[in-house]
Amino acid sequence: MRVRLCWRRDGRNPNEKKYAAAQLAAHLRQGGWDATLEHIISRDTKRGLTHNLLVQRDEGAIIFAALIPIDSLHAIWNRQREVSDDLQRRGLKGQAKKNHAQNGTSPTVWLQDDRTPSGHEVADALWHWPGVIDLAMLTPFLMESVPTDDTYDDCPLPDYLSLGRDEGERVPVVRSEVRRDPHVRRAVLERAGFACEREGCGERRDFPGFLDVHHILGAEKSDRVYNCVALCPCCHREAHYAPYADDLNKQLLEHAKRFG
Ligand SMILES: [Zn+2]
Ligand SMILES: [Zn+2]
Repeated sequence: MRVRLCWRRDGRNPNEKKYAAAQLAAHLRQGGWDATLEHIISRDTKRGLTHNLLVQRDEGAIIFAALIPIDSLHAIWNRQREVSDDLQRRGLKGQAKKNHAQNGTSPTVWLQDDRTPSGHEVADALWHWPGVIDLAMLTPFLMESVPTDDTYDDCPLPDYLSLGRDEGERVPVVRSEVRRDPHVRRAVLERAGFACEREGCGERRDFPGFLDVHHILGAEKSDRVYNCVALCPCCHREAHYAPYADDLNKQLLEHAKRFG
């Protein structure tokens, strides 16, 4: 599961015990709120994660621990957004103007909102969702911080011989691809002088196939030279998987746009 911490309660905000919420992303992706949610969910699903655990801590105690099946996350967020809109329409949101679910640039899931008499309706949308469990309710005592002995490794050593196999079995695979023009690929490699175009990198090798041509906004969006950069394998992985991939892609797009 992916564990996400709710906003900290550190005594700085006098209201802080009245609400609990967790942000799902540092910033929005291209495509907006729903695209950001889908990205998070498909990324986590690919990693084999099945749940999000949203944890609100208050000094030594865990007061909420919402265990959310990953395939319900988007729908729950949507529902909270609708409820928040609805409170707004009914004039029940007090001074708050923005939607609960859209906090700055982050999709946000709410576990508690007691700042106004009706705010709890947003959190209720989470707690009433089928399959959502509050693990904190299963813990009848306040947890005290007990020093734990983590000097030993509690993961059993893997039995390497039981992993994998020697003779691979072939399985047929059907997949669809976006058609790409080989001339675009060629033009980008030539433009790049056959070296990685990421600023400060410039890696090159003297054999064809070393460089990848990365479609910054995706090949489906545009297979044109101004959406493509030549990248070495490391930079290409970073552009897809690094936590700062969005910033890197912005920088790459700035570079590629000059050729549009
Ligand atoms: Zn790529
Ligand atoms: Zn590179």
